[in-house]
Amino acid sequence: MTASALPSSAVSPEAWARAHDELIEDLRALIRIPTVNPPGDEIRAARHVETLLADLGLRPEVVEPFPDRGSVACRLRGDGTGGAPLLLLSHLDVVPAPADGWTHDPFAADVAGGYVWGRGAVDMKGMVAMELGVIRRLVAEARAAGRDPASDPIPGLRRDVLFASTADEEAGGFEGAGWIADHRPQLLRADAALNEAGGVSMDFAGRRFYPIQVAEKGFAVYRLTVRGVCGHGSMPREENAAVRAAAVITRLSAPGRPRLTPVMERFFRAAAEHLPAETAELVRRIADPDPATSTAAVDALCTGAYRRATAALLRDSISVGVVNAGVKYNVIPGRAEVQIDCRVLPGTTEEQMRAELVARLGPELAEHVGIELVIFGAPVEAPLDHPLYAVMAATLRDHDPEGVPLPIMAPFATDAKHVERLGVATYGFSPLRNDPEESWLERFHGIDERVGLEALRFGLPVLYDVVRRYCG
Ligand SMILES: [Zn+2]
Repeated sequence: MTASALPSSAVSPEAWARAHDELIEDLRALIRIPTVNPPGDEIRAARHVETLLADLGLRPEVVEPFPDRGSVACRLRGDGTGGAPLLLLSHLDVVPAPADGWTHDPFAADVAGGYVWGRGAVDMKGMVAMELGVIRRLVAEARAAGRDPASDPIPGLRRDVLFASTADEEAGGFEGAGWIADHRPQLLRADAALNEAGGVSMDFAGRRFYPIQVAEKGFAVYRLTVRGVCGHGSMPREENAAVRAAAVITRLSAPGRPRLTPVMERFFRAAAEHLPAETAELVRRIADPDPATSTAAVDALCTGAYRRATAALLRDSISVGVVNAGVKYNVIPGRAEVQIDCRVLPGTTEEQMRAELVARLGPELAEHVGIELVIFGAPVEAPLDHPLYAVMAATLRDHDPEGVPLPIMAPFATDAKHVERLGVATYGFSPLRNDPEESWLERFHGIDERVGLEALRFGLPVLYDVVRRYCG
């Protein structure tokens, strides 16, 4: 494929400029509807999107299986000769945003300094607005051909395009995509899906990379009950459950051994090929089985959220989230509770994670600790040889010839785990070309969440071209 074959080049620059303006207004309207989860209250955003799609002449559907937990779905028809649909998947909810520390009101959707500011700008109302932008274009093209977009095939589409923007992703998605997958699977059933978080430029050592998310770590949350012996605080004792909990936390918090999964092996190899020799050598050392060598290379190459993400992508990780012990200062606690968040690589089972916890504690500590699984979500992997992956990579190269697309795993989980059950190959692809200085990963769930106007201007035609090429 060459750049001249880009479907977006058949659309006039004026039409793209209008589409960009509409995208920004769609995004701002969505940010102003606070869908903070908990409680979520996504129904208002779902109704807003429903109205927008109905005004375009489509027949959207809102599902509300639990009070105020609304999701919205819609179908654009292809002529059916190209196979199963492509799903545009997104979520409507956001994480809380205490206004402390923000330079803009998190729900005002200010436009300033080249950015749209607000909770959800990157996670992930920006992508919802881009998906709506693609739908607006397809509807306009149907109308220009004298077709009814609600019932006739969109000109040039051989597969259906499904849109689903769901509730509850930030709390596991069980009242959103999870419920729909169980009870209304036809709203999600597709050959493949485009979802959040990949396809975003990352500048590193003078090169621009576009990691496309093809895998996600799974999660295992445990409640640890640490048993001790009570007593009077005037006479300290080593069986103090809080003291034992401190030892438990120390042992579990040490970083585990690195293990390179096939996706990350390919990520580091592909990145090294495009980097100067010295940096490439450090990137290769990240894959070293010796934890000290690997950690030193990660520390030398990246900082902040990028360093933490790289470390997390190399191992099953353990993060301590809740610690409880004691009722009064002069009563030695006989019991403590520690809740931990384990994120597992593809290839690690829940049983293996639990065995790792026991091994880390060692027999003398493990005998005092009860381990109870709270929730488990398996890791997710989509095929690297899927034709959609090739379309995404080629389209990014056509729009940014200096950019390097490469596959990556996400350290966190998304709704991909729910649609994967339906056999949908799900890729994180919300294309943005960021300013090289923008620390995009820090914006996720962070203060001053924002997305660049120019990043979105780049992303919309890329997303449109991927949809057109894959469905055409
Ligand atoms: Zn998200």
